[in-house]
Amino acid sequence: MSKITLGILGGGQLGSMLSVAAKKLDIKTIIYCDDQKAPSQNFCDDFIYAEYNDKNKIYEFAKKVDYITYEFENIPFETLNELNKLKTVSPKPSVNRLIQHRLAEKDFINKLNIRTTRYVNVKSKEDLLPLDDFLPGILKTTTMGYDGKGQYPIKDISEINSLNIDFKNDYILEKLVKLKKEISVIITRFGNNKYEIYEPIENTHKDQILKHSKIPAEISKKLFNQSKEWAIMIAEELKYIGTLCIEFFIDRNDNLYVNEIAPRVHNSGHLTINAYNVSQFENHIRAVCFLEQIKLKKLFNAEMNNIIGDEIITYRENLKLNKNQFFFDYLKKDIKEKRKMGHLTTLK
Ligand code: ADP
Ligand code: MG
Repeated sequence: MSKITLGILGGGQLGSMLSVAAKKLDIKTIIYCDDQKAPSQNFCDDFIYAEYNDKNKIYEFAKKVDYITYEFENIPFETLNELNKLKTVSPKPSVNRLIQHRLAEKDFINKLNIRTTRYVNVKSKEDLLPLDDFLPGILKTTTMGYDGKGQYPIKDISEINSLNIDFKNDYILEKLVKLKKEISVIITRFGNNKYEIYEPIENTHKDQILKHSKIPAEISKKLFNQSKEWAIMIAEELKYIGTLCIEFFIDRNDNLYVNEIAPRVHNSGHLTINAYNVSQFENHIRAVCFLEQIKLKKLFNAEMNNIIGDEIITYRENLKLNKNQFFFDYLKKDIKEKRKMGHLTTLK
């Protein structure tokens, strides 16, 4: 059989880890990214640097690959749609269009009778004024947000003028949930009622960026089951192919809410590389390349620490690892504040 080539849109650390997983399965990867310094070029077989709307380059990319996937959600729908006419794109472009829009995403979740935070669409300053009831809240851009970017926490309506909100963007205002915990559930779906699901992961954020993840999550059996059930419902309803992550909030009364859906492999699942027989990355590759589904088995409990900004320097300079520890350097050349630079997984 000739070797499979997988095309991946997006060149961050998720692309790197997908490439590493693909290599293990003897699959070639070509990464397409609009960042010339994309770290994943250190890990893939071939790299195309171009804008996401460059029709010629997109066509050239499609010709070189057998299947296509993506590692971040902010890719123009048109691009995914054009590519899908040439080669199978998984997850399908319409899923990405839905999820990359926070309002459409939340409407979709509520239609399934799954709880989310209370939210409202905001297009102007005037829209915000009568919304006291949603405060304290977080104003978020409806599209293009990640790692807390494009978000404004608002406690009181009087703060609006000093926030310098750019109303060229469309927003969603979400009521703040009094958080007890955050968890995520990662699921890889291969077809109708065919999926592999990881156990819920407990996550801690700092400045709206993920800092720490661990399994098992310290949650009740009821929340353990409910979060998995909701993840399965969402994946089935989307007819999703590939790895999907659902982020959840748990409030002080133990109510579960879906925060958001990530139509891709997810930072909280990095510990699956070492803690499971099949990682979220390998499972994604298997699903989008239509390979065999393998029964998932947890091998270890684990925790993961994200290495952010200049924390990476000490790790790079004098790292002593125990046998149960695994360090991943994303090989990003520029160290920036709040930038994810690497992670450390410790097996328990
Ligand atoms: P991103 O797309 O940047 O990941 P999220 O909506 O997941 O955006 O927000 C990032 C983090 O900010 C969440 O994981 C949570 O810690 C905090 N957060 C966001 N929205 C709310 C909310 N409505 N109530 C409480 N905390 C929130
Ligand atoms: Mg999030």
